[in-house]
Amino acid sequence: MPKMADNRTHLVLENYIGGTFVPCSRHIDSYDPSTGEVYCRVPDSDKEEVEAAVKAAKEAFPEWSSKSPAERAKVLHKLADLIEAHLEEFALAESKDQGKTITFARTVDIPRSAHNFRFFASSVLHHTTDCSQMDHMGCVNYTVRSPVGVAGLISPWNLPLYLLTWKIAPAIATGNTVVAKPSEMTSVTAWMMCKLLEEAGMPPGVVNIVFGTGPRAGDALVSHPDVPLISFTGSTGTARVITEHSAPYCKKLSLELGAKNPAIIFQDANLEECIATTVRSSFSNQGEICLCTSRIFVERSIYPEFLQKFVEAAQRWRTGVPTDTSSDNGALISKEHLEKVRGYVKLAQAEGGKVHCGEGVDTLELPERNQNGYFMPPTVITDVTDTSRCMQEEIFGPVTCVVPFDGEEEVIRRANGVKYGLSATVWSRDVGRVHRVARSLQAGLVWTNCWLIRDLNLPFGGMKSSGVGREGGQDSYHFFTEVKTITIKH
Ligand code: NAD
Repeated sequence: MPKMADNRTHLVLENYIGGTFVPCSRHIDSYDPSTGEVYCRVPDSDKEEVEAAVKAAKEAFPEWSSKSPAERAKVLHKLADLIEAHLEEFALAESKDQGKTITFARTVDIPRSAHNFRFFASSVLHHTTDCSQMDHMGCVNYTVRSPVGVAGLISPWNLPLYLLTWKIAPAIATGNTVVAKPSEMTSVTAWMMCKLLEEAGMPPGVVNIVFGTGPRAGDALVSHPDVPLISFTGSTGTARVITEHSAPYCKKLSLELGAKNPAIIFQDANLEECIATTVRSSFSNQGEICLCTSRIFVERSIYPEFLQKFVEAAQRWRTGVPTDTSSDNGALISKEHLEKVRGYVKLAQAEGGKVHCGEGVDTLELPERNQNGYFMPPTVITDVTDTSRCMQEEIFGPVTCVVPFDGEEEVIRRANGVKYGLSATVWSRDVGRVHRVARSLQAGLVWTNCWLIRDLNLPFGGMKSSGVGREGGQDSYHFFTEVKTITIKH
C-alpha cells in the first residue's frame, strides 16, 4: 500500500468483476472532504475493465434470469441483513468519503440502502401483468415481462450507497445482471458492499462494480453494445452526453437529474413546523440532495416574520466536523464544488442580493486538522430577481434564496419558471389550495406540509430537465423488464 504523508497507508480499492476483486494499474486520488487530505485510491478503469465486467455479467445472465423472483429475493434479503449488521462501519466510511455527518449516514444513507434491497425483494413478488378480455376476435391476449440483460448503472456522489442500491436492487430483483459505476469521488461503500456479496449468496457476475471517472469508465459502459439499458442519476449536463453516446444503440434510458426546487409558503401555514422543515429541506446533507429546497416563495404578509425566524433557524443549523454527533452539516464534497457554491453567493451579491447569514457573515470554528476541509455554513440570500442565476441554476450546496409573492397564480407561474421540475413543497392549511397548487406545479413530486416522506412503491423522478422516466415499485419493474404481448387464437 502507498504511504500517506504522515505514514498512514492509503485505502486502495479494486474493481469487483465476476465475483472477485481485480486490481487496477491506474488510480485516482480520493479526498476526505473534512480535512482536504487524500486518503483513498480509486481504480481509474477504462474500456478493458468495463469489457471484462460486461463479459462476466453476460455469462451470469442466463442462470440468474431463470431463477424465480422468490429465489432472487432471498439473496437480496440476506444482503440487506448483512448491510444492517455492518451499519456502523458503512456509516463511518460514507461520512469520511462524502463529508456528510455520521448522524445522517447512520440514520438515512445506510438504513435506506438496506431498505432498498428489502423493498425490491418483496415488491418483485407481487407484480401482475395484463390480460385482455376473453374472445377478443377469438383470441386471448396477455403480456409477459422478462429481464432486459446487462444493466449499466451510474450514480452520483451525494448519497453514494443509497442511490447505487436504488438501482442495483430493482435491476437484479427482476433478473438482470449489472455493471455499476459509482462516482469516482465516493466509491468506498460500494467497494465494501462487494465484500458482502458472496456471503449473501450472490452468484459471481450478477453484480459487477467498476470504479473510475465518467469520461472513461462511465462512457465505456454507456457506449458498450452489450449493455442495452442505462440507469443514470447525476447532472443534466452529463445526461446530455449519455443520451448522445447511447443513441446509436437505441438503449433504454432512465435519467434522474438536477433540480431547482421551490418551497411555496402561504400566510396560513403552520409557521413553526414550516420553518423547521424548510431549514431541513434547504440544508440537509449540506444542501447536496437533489430534492433540497433552493427557492423559497413566501406570501408577502408573513414575509418579514418568516425571514427573521428562518435566518435564526438557519444560524442554529450547526456546521461542524462530520464525526461530531452535534453537527447538522459536515463538509461539501470537494474543493471545486465548494468554490462553485461560494461563487454563486458572490454572484448574488454582485447582482444586488443580500446575504443574511452563512458565507461571509458567520465564521465557522473548526479544529486544527479540519482547517483545510470544505466547510460552508447555511447561507440565506434575499433581494434576487427570478431571472438571476442563483434563482435559475442548480447550486447543490447550503444556499437558499427567499423572495416574497402576492398571489396563488403568480407564485405558480414563478415556481414553474425554471428549466427543472423535480420536486416542490407547499405550505398551507387550506385543503383546496393545496390540491390546486400541487396539480399546477411542474414537478415530479410535491410535498405539502412536509418534505422527503417517500413511499418507494410510488413513482420517483422529474419533469423537464430534471429527468426522463420514473423509478420506484411498478416503474422500476417496467424499466428493468421488457414487455411482450402474446395472442392466442382458440
Ligand atoms: P455528474 O453528472 O457529474 O456525475 C454522475 C455520475 O456520472 C458519476 O458517476 C460520474 O462519474 C458519471 N459521469 C460523468 N460523466 C460521464 C459520462 N460522460 N459518461 C458516463 N458517466 C459519466 O453528477 P454529480 O456531480 O456526481 O452529482 C450531482 C448531480 O446529481 C446534481 O445535478 C444532482 O441534482 C443530481 N442528482 C439527481 C438526483 C435525482 O434523483 N434526480 C439524485 C441525486 C443527485
